[in-house]
Amino acid sequence: MKNRFLSQHKLCEPIKVKAMRYILAIDQGTSSSRCLVYDQQAKPVAMAQQAFSQHFPQPGWVEHDAEEIWASQSAVVRQAMQQAQLQPADIAGIGITNQRETTVIWERSTGKPIYNAIVWQDRRTADDCLRLKQAGAEAMVKAKTGLLLDAYFSATKISWLLDHVEGARAKAERGELAFGTIDSWLVCKLTNGELHITDVSNASRTLLFNIDTMQWDDELLALFNIPASLLPVVKSSSEIYGQTRNPEIGAGMPIAAIAGDQQAGLFGQLCINAGMAKCTYGTGSFLMMNTGAKRVASNHGLLTTIAWQIGDQIHYALEGGVFVGGAVIQWLRDGLGLFEHAADSEQLAGSVADNGGVYFVPALTGLGAPHWDPHARGAIFGITRGTTSAHLTRAALESICFQVDDVLQMFTAESGTPIAQLRIDGGAAVNNRLAQFQADISAVEVVRPTNLETTALGAAYLAGIAVGLWTIDELKQNWQVDRSFHENMPPLEVESLKRYWLKAVERTKNWAE
Ligand code: ADP
Repeated sequence: MKNRFLSQHKLCEPIKVKAMRYILAIDQGTSSSRCLVYDQQAKPVAMAQQAFSQHFPQPGWVEHDAEEIWASQSAVVRQAMQQAQLQPADIAGIGITNQRETTVIWERSTGKPIYNAIVWQDRRTADDCLRLKQAGAEAMVKAKTGLLLDAYFSATKISWLLDHVEGARAKAERGELAFGTIDSWLVCKLTNGELHITDVSNASRTLLFNIDTMQWDDELLALFNIPASLLPVVKSSSEIYGQTRNPEIGAGMPIAAIAGDQQAGLFGQLCINAGMAKCTYGTGSFLMMNTGAKRVASNHGLLTTIAWQIGDQIHYALEGGVFVGGAVIQWLRDGLGLFEHAADSEQLAGSVADNGGVYFVPALTGLGAPHWDPHARGAIFGITRGTTSAHLTRAALESICFQVDDVLQMFTAESGTPIAQLRIDGGAAVNNRLAQFQADISAVEVVRPTNLETTALGAAYLAGIAVGLWTIDELKQNWQVDRSFHENMPPLEVESLKRYWLKAVERTKNWAE
């Protein structure tokens, strides 16, 4: 009976005429606010971008005006919707991705920030971190959060605000203030103050979130002297949290995803299984490896972080950053004037058969993962009378890959999982020579997708999943490769290149004492 009913029901079902629905990705970055609109096939159909002011009130301090961040973000949302000729009712969901760790505190009653946002780059609390380290707190902090005790993360920025803005601590004790990373701030504005939330990926960058229990941690809150009343509710990275209520952008759009920028990038590259890794080749190089449900601790200065949570499934990741990546090409261009455009580096490097024995260690601002030496400085080794600007350029491009390889080796060593494929994006990922050299020395398949806007794409993917617009399997089919690079270099040559590279790295260390 039941079966007959079902088959009859199917026959009678009217053909659904479904209007095209769209996903809005809000990509709030360190230097600009962007908004991208994606159609039902996850294809971008509109994009708007607006830069905002950077404030440097003292050496080492970096601030943003949180109201200006919102003004620029809401402007680009309006522009992108106008470009695509969409109304709020056409939007199936909004995905948010954001600069991480940047800290805002606002009054709950008015929604007004009590001070500028303190940006992730800001070093004002470096001495506070040092004091806590000297008091022996780092092991506990690292065990609970997967992070290092560093000014980069939010906790000491929150304490600084409570201690330096008049009346802030008393107000916080009375529960009158709210803390948020930029995602929380945007959701507050989008919902006219209705929601005070963040997602696990952003929470995991605050130094206050225990990544095993998935809770704010009392011991950490006590260490940094932060009242729990400040904190947002922590949600998964892909669910409908609520609806927009702000008339500046339109009401009734479901807010359906939140993820920090690097994590969203990892998802946008569909590195959704353990062992998959991505590298963003921008000014610096940012690597992340999905370690699945397993939290991998690092003994070599990599960070352990939450990649995302979908439903009750949590993915962890290892993260490593290289300070100077594409910036070394910028330096050859602007500092030495070797060529006019960054893209010219590819042809110039290709005009010689090899690096001619030249190795360039671009420790221009010290060395990041996995060498960690703030006192290292840049150096070029192996110069002879035959060295030309082409060799120098080739060595510079190779240095980007050597540094990435050092992090990849560490990922493999610490996770025990070999990386078979590296998915790449960022401004320098268009350089074929760079991509090929990476494949050669790292013995991995290097894959460049057609859509290099992976951060916004990741936020859109997560939002589309939450609202049922697509499944992960459908996204896999949709995701397109522009080009794959396979290793094609004799092992002896690889071994020799890496030996010289590591020798060069050692000689740059501890230079600026
Ligand atoms: P960010 O987001 O960090 O500002 P982008 O992702 O826009 O950086 O990448 C810009 C960086 O990439 C610059 O440092 C530039 O020198 C480098 N770059 C851009 N195009 C190329 C290229 N074709 N080859 C090598 N490097 C490049």
